[in-house]
Amino acid sequence: MQDPPDLPATDIGRPHRHRNVPTCDPSAPADIEALLADLPRRRDLLIEYLHRIQDRFGCLSSRHLQALAELTGLPQAEVIEIARFTRHFDIVAEGTEAPPPLTIRVCSSLSCSLAGADALFSHLSEWADPARVRVLRVPCLGRCAEAPAAFVGKRAVTKATPEAVVATVEGGDFAPALPAFVVGLQMYREAGGYGLLEACRAGKLPVGELIAILAEAGLRGLGGAGTPVSEKWAAVLRHPGPRLVTVNANEGEPGAFKDRHYLLRDPHRMLEGALIAAWAIEAERIVLYLSDDYPDAHAILLREIALLAEAGLSGPTPIELRRGAGRYLCGEETAMLESIEGKRGLPRRRPPDITERGLFGRPTLVHNIETLWWLRDIVERGADWFAGLGKPGHTGLRSYSVSGRVARPGIKVAPAGITLAELIEKHCGGMAPGHQLAAFLPGGASGGIFPAAFADRPLDFGTFEPDGGSIGVHAIIVLSDKDDVPAAALTLLRFLRDESCGQCPACRTGTETLVALFGAGNADADAITALAKAIDEGSLCGLGPAAAKLACGLLRNFPQNPTSEGT
Ligand code: SF4
Repeated sequence: MQDPPDLPATDIGRPHRHRNVPTCDPSAPADIEALLADLPRRRDLLIEYLHRIQDRFGCLSSRHLQALAELTGLPQAEVIEIARFTRHFDIVAEGTEAPPPLTIRVCSSLSCSLAGADALFSHLSEWADPARVRVLRVPCLGRCAEAPAAFVGKRAVTKATPEAVVATVEGGDFAPALPAFVVGLQMYREAGGYGLLEACRAGKLPVGELIAILAEAGLRGLGGAGTPVSEKWAAVLRHPGPRLVTVNANEGEPGAFKDRHYLLRDPHRMLEGALIAAWAIEAERIVLYLSDDYPDAHAILLREIALLAEAGLSGPTPIELRRGAGRYLCGEETAMLESIEGKRGLPRRRPPDITERGLFGRPTLVHNIETLWWLRDIVERGADWFAGLGKPGHTGLRSYSVSGRVARPGIKVAPAGITLAELIEKHCGGMAPGHQLAAFLPGGASGGIFPAAFADRPLDFGTFEPDGGSIGVHAIIVLSDKDDVPAAALTLLRFLRDESCGQCPACRTGTETLVALFGAGNADADAITALAKAIDEGSLCGLGPAAAKLACGLLRNFPQNPTSEGT
């Protein structure tokens, strides 16, 4: 086993193994020291330090990066490399200009594109005075049900029009807007919250019994893989402690927004689930890794986690909140662990499995927000209650993120195994007026693309796999007869190409080639099938295969029109 988690720290004052060039600006170290005064000096907090600097100064200047490198004892090149890997940091080299004081980020993902994000971007780009404002196109912001979405500073503008974005700029308030109603600690406790945690800690519910309830309920990991929760817990318990829990809230799959939905409304239900999981596997701490596109959820969690600690409810298990790095790939669980350790979020090779050697080399349990969110209800209402809520042959409820051409997009809590046809009809108010279902993506960019003929297929783990798809995080994007389906898929192929970390040549060059072939209208079935096979075989994580799945889905399911030439 590697060093325990406190040891990767690089304390101030420790002799530098890697010397950086001497700091030329004497004020920079003082800036950095003052900015980080309330944080411990640990190597794994590097990305949090970078966030602080970016938030305070609007960019990462060479002088500050140099001072940070000196402070942490890391080589400056490594600090820059890690900062570069992220998407939300602006590195400003000596002698180059800092970005303008305000940034508008316009979502370029599929659901926002369908809702007019491209025109919004063009309009804002023409309007913006580059000395004052810059306008960027960015990957999914997790507001797919309120598309198109943009950020002005940290303030989200949903159903965004050019006028609304300009009004936000002129209004001058760029802080995140918080929801009017959140179930806070007091309200949650008044409704019996944390009673289950206390019962567990008091020995009223033995771990074995708890695991048996979760197994009976059929609760699965809802972050994409669908591994039964009871199996995950049992696997991590097989390895000697100390153990850790990480909560993956890096949600970035195009079309997925359920994590944010729950965090903004009822964060303690998830936090209690995380504390129960930590109790069950005897974890010494919980690290919650949150998408940096969710500044509203960040503010709520900061407040509620502090209240929880003040009330003594987190007990022996501190909860650390960490901001992500603006990279979709950091939602891959091993990449997330690397990022939490303060490194570039590159997926790890397996084995070993993270249940054996995960965060800081320790046995680690990783859960998604929704998985933990269900935990309390399942135990309090009983395994049968949850299991019986699925469609025949399927267990439990699921939170489907539905966006695109439906009348009422949003989070739809529905039985596992519901079909798309029923989901649209009963939960989404039907298709949007004037639109007929033509195609859909059951699992965002990662689950393949299917024609309307698959609308009667149950939406669950395992049901799309025989046809080259998967439900993943249950991010359903609905396309209609008014949409150019190949162009929509090409948008997602481009996204996957841009998000590839490049570690695997098959993924790096393969995603590039797929975009080139489909973009040029060159759907040579044999070439694409061979390329997809090579990507599948040569990829370390699921990103490369997701691109292969999309490409093959276009060929297989839309044979008359797999490309949209010149798009
Ligand atoms: Fe990186 Fe792609 Fe390899 Fe995943 S498959 S590790 S994204 S290069």
